[in-house]
Amino acid sequence: MINVALSGSLNDARQRLQDALRAAGRPPDDALMLAVSKTRPAADIRHAWQLGQRHFGENYLQEALDKQTELADLDDISWHFIGPLQSNKTRAVAEHFDWVHSVDRLKTAQRLSAQRPADKPPLNICLQVNVSHEAAKSGVTPQALAELAQAVSQLPNVTLRGLMAIPAPADTPAAQRQPLAELRACLETLREALPEATLDTLSMGMSGDLEAAVQEGATLVRLGTAIFGARPDTKN
Ligand SMILES: *Cc1c(COP(=O)(O)O)cnc(C)c1O
Repeated sequence: MINVALSGSLNDARQRLQDALRAAGRPPDDALMLAVSKTRPAADIRHAWQLGQRHFGENYLQEALDKQTELADLDDISWHFIGPLQSNKTRAVAEHFDWVHSVDRLKTAQRLSAQRPADKPPLNICLQVNVSHEAAKSGVTPQALAELAQAVSQLPNVTLRGLMAIPAPADTPAAQRQPLAELRACLETLREALPEATLDTLSMGMSGDLEAAVQEGATLVRLGTAIFGARPDTKN
């Protein structure tokens, strides 16, 4: 069955990313679009895959594992874990995902590295940084980032790819850009400190701040609502 609404919104999201890249003076393939499929049924993911989408982001482990089982025939699909990651979930994440964007403690990274199956390539990791300076948000502080990144970059079975942030919602483009610019500055500082690391990823930009994030150098944008429509529940 063809989901007409999804094919339209997926095309719109691709066009929006292309427009944002062009407006920022960047090449058309300069940023990867992650489809954030939390709360969406496996059938929606399959349909997006049929339309050429390959990277999908999930927040809730059990929900993701159930959908992965249903979609096991889609062999070139790439799964990104983007939700809060407790220690008791690291083994399943290390076994069933290609990327983790939400690492903010060394212990989590150590467990992911130790638990990554030997027959898989190193797990791609982004460190989540708290650039909104809110006590309630997860993420390492910019001050503690260098030490964490240095330690994570030494782990054998993970590859430190870059940084991720979920800024607090902001009303104006200027207010949106401030934390995004801070994340970009954090990545530039890290690149100087760790010249050997593959720090090519700036994971930022959601449906509400895509243009601002692309202006500030996002290389991986995470779009949920823009692709799949408003989520049925309110927990995220
Ligand atoms: C839900 C979620 C998104 C997508 O948000 P939208 O506003 O629906 O685009 C992106 N990143 C993270 C970490 C999320 O939890």
